[in-house]
Amino acid sequence: MPYNHILVAVDLTEECDPVIHRARELSVSNGATLSLVHIVEPMAMAFGGDVPMDLSQLQQQQFDQAKERLEQLKRKYTELESANCHLTYGQPRQEIHLFAKENNCDLIVVGSHGRHGLALLLGSTANDVLHGAPCDVLAVRLIKS
Ligand code: AMP
Repeated sequence: MPYNHILVAVDLTEECDPVIHRARELSVSNGATLSLVHIVEPMAMAFGGDVPMDLSQLQQQQFDQAKERLEQLKRKYTELESANCHLTYGQPRQEIHLFAKENNCDLIVVGSHGRHGLALLLGSTANDVLHGAPCDVLAVRLIKS
């Protein structure tokens, strides 16, 4: 059964290239729609909740930077322009699962580092995304150069 709708989740670092390459290949070979998503994590979340200062300006900067990076990616991978590229706030696992469910994605493609423990096989976000995923998940191994 070919995949119909592939969702590639990117962290917008230079490491996302091999992940996008793999997702593009698969979308071509399966004749599938390709969507891309990046989640901007709320700063308060990174600081563990209560932060005694206003982070809204920093948060906006972070969102604007992500938007610019996404535009660069669209210029680099012209086929992404026609694909659905989404930028949203939240927790990566939750938002990736939600997007996949709402858009009937049947494959999620993420990168995986291999760091420690289970992360020897899967990077932490990849591991997170795998658990409770509403569809297949492909973890593209990222080799450190
Ligand atoms: P990490 O565990 O942070 O090294 O990330 C592994 C992979 O998870 C990345 O290569 C992306 O595919 C995905 N990922 C990480 N952070 C995000 C994010 N904020 N938004 C979307 N995907 C992400």
